[in-house]
Amino acid sequence: MRRPRLLILGGTSEASELARQLADDNRFDPCLSLAGRTKAPARPPIAFRIGGFGGPEGLADYLRDEPIDLIVDATHPFAERMKHNAIAAAAQADVPLLAIRRPEWQPQAGDRWTVVSDMQAAVSALGESTLRVFVTIGQKELAPFRAAPQHSYVIRSVDPPAPDSLPPDTQVITARGPFDEAAERDLLAGRKIDVIVTKNSGGSATYAKLAAARGLGLPVILVARPAHPQAEAVETAGEAVVWIEGWLARRG
Ligand code: NAP
Repeated sequence: MRRPRLLILGGTSEASELARQLADDNRFDPCLSLAGRTKAPARPPIAFRIGGFGGPEGLADYLRDEPIDLIVDATHPFAERMKHNAIAAAAQADVPLLAIRRPEWQPQAGDRWTVVSDMQAAVSALGESTLRVFVTIGQKELAPFRAAPQHSYVIRSVDPPAPDSLPPDTQVITARGPFDEAAERDLLAGRKIDVIVTKNSGGSATYAKLAAARGLGLPVILVARPAHPQAEAVETAGEAVVWIEGWLARRG
């Protein structure tokens, strides 16, 4: 009998972890899908494809053509469009969908967070006086910071951002997580950072900067997550494996 084909929508540590856990499991035929945003992604241990599907219709066609038996949406909490596309395509192609939704970071005693709704609001929250700002929001949404050229910026992303998206006084650091707290503290203190701008991504890989900020008493401007569409969901790759095994047993 044909092994069930799983499409994992990735670009996250959970997707990579799920791929690792399924790699030697010959009950399944998994494929990891990456958007192609990072130039040199780590080579997955399972079959993979790179690039968009062409909206929900393109994804629905893909699900039917392959054919895919189960779609696992393990995209990043801020990958809003893909979450909607996946749910629409799964409904169109009548394929079950499981989402991996990692919990949000929660403030602890000593945290100095200002929570804002989007990047524009994050820029406004910096205020008028000149600050040294550490920005870790990825490469896509840097342009709003050009409207606040009074600040100097240290921007960290996996690949270098497009130069025309940057404010004038900017240093770029390219690095890929996970990051550890001691190194983050050294970076924040060494670069004389006054404030951090980041997104409430959740997860452990990029949390260290928030722990370091707490230790140093630094303020953080935190962009809240977009609302997620309703879907059957678990929180971790390990829970996804358990759910998938239950799904396989129910299928018979
Ligand atoms: P997005 O705005 O939700 O999606 C934009 C388009 O990119 C989608 O419509 C789709 O194109 C394509 N796409 C997204 N994820 C894909 C995947 N896993 N496989 C194939 N195509 C995909 O997503 P985004 O915020 O640009 O993020 C892109 C990728 O980076 C995601 O896979 C996400 O998990 C990862 N990521 C995002 C962030 C973040 O902060 N946004 C952070 C870390 C990692 P089509 O419509 O043509 O299918």
